[in-house]
Amino acid sequence: MKKLIPFVIVLFLCFACKNENTSRDTAKAENALETTTEKPEFAIIIHGGAGTILKRNMTPEKEAAYKAKLEEAIRVGYEILKNGGSSLDAVTKTINVMEDSPLFNAGKGAVFTNAETNELDASIMDGKTLNAGASAGTTTVRNPIDLARVVMDNSKHVMLSGKGAELFAEEQGLTLVEPSYFHTDRRLESLKRVKEREAKKVGKVDTESAYLDFYDADIKNAKFGTVGCAALDKNGNLAAGTSTGGMTNKRYGRVGDAPIIGSGTYANNATCAVSSTGWGEYFIRAQVAHDISALMDYKGLSLKEASKLVLNKVKDLGGDGGIVAVDKNGNMVAEFNTAGMYRATMNDKGELVIGIYEQ
Ligand code: ASP
Repeated sequence: MKKLIPFVIVLFLCFACKNENTSRDTAKAENALETTTEKPEFAIIIHGGAGTILKRNMTPEKEAAYKAKLEEAIRVGYEILKNGGSSLDAVTKTINVMEDSPLFNAGKGAVFTNAETNELDASIMDGKTLNAGASAGTTTVRNPIDLARVVMDNSKHVMLSGKGAELFAEEQGLTLVEPSYFHTDRRLESLKRVKEREAKKVGKVDTESAYLDFYDADIKNAKFGTVGCAALDKNGNLAAGTSTGGMTNKRYGRVGDAPIIGSGTYANNATCAVSSTGWGEYFIRAQVAHDISALMDYKGLSLKEASKLVLNKVKDLGGDGGIVAVDKNGNMVAEFNTAGMYRATMNDKGELVIGIYEQ
């Protein structure tokens, strides 16, 4: 037996040595994985609204027009980021392109209120400083995201609304337009259709509750079309912004989630930057954008996991919509629980991905 002891020791040492090599190999493999999945230098993601966007309702021309505009918009932000510009500038300028297009429910293409006016909302947030700006219910500011930006940069406030916000925009030298600038036949037609359905459903609507009953039932079929952007720049700074005309046929000074920091927009360098689109009332109640960030911060969830969880919360409450987001490592997520969402991403290699329907 004694003779066997050295043999057993040698056998044990060989085994231990082999094990150590295996774990070293695993560590090597993991490191290799880490170095191959490098953090991108910058990243940008946009949306042009979520809703009942079905292929069968789309013409090839319309689809091409949306894709072209999404590409034009995201390329503006991409160039800014590539040249070392800030995520805030990339978000602002990218949103400007979509605001100036009649295709989206923001700026030029804003939907009509019940009174046949256009009331616009927007917000922006800086993930580095947690500073934020927003405007609600403006009718004369051509690019509401610019107003949100100057509220953030040049005022002590976070949100300005209505006439006061317009006065501030004027003082800041922003481009003002006649309210009729926002009138488009297409959106007026939509309003008329919604009003016809409303009249059939509840007759003459003259009380708030009757209106809200209708609103609940009908809005599920409405197309939304808000625009938003989230970006990570070369300095590791995150930013997000959102701009909208709100919901067709809105009244009583209704304001949705788009200008609400924490609902429509949120950015924090510690976690992610998020822009939302969808049924605003539910996005406010679920505090969508901030909730995604908080789940990453406090529970260590990935951006994808957090986004899915929060959109399920919106669904459970009875709402629908989507988000686009980028995390501090440059991971991008587009998540929605509607039939479609206009969206696009670009990474630091210049790879562009555009989507409209569920894929
Ligand atoms: N969230 C916007 C609102 O409720 C609408 C949209 O996203 O299209 O005002």
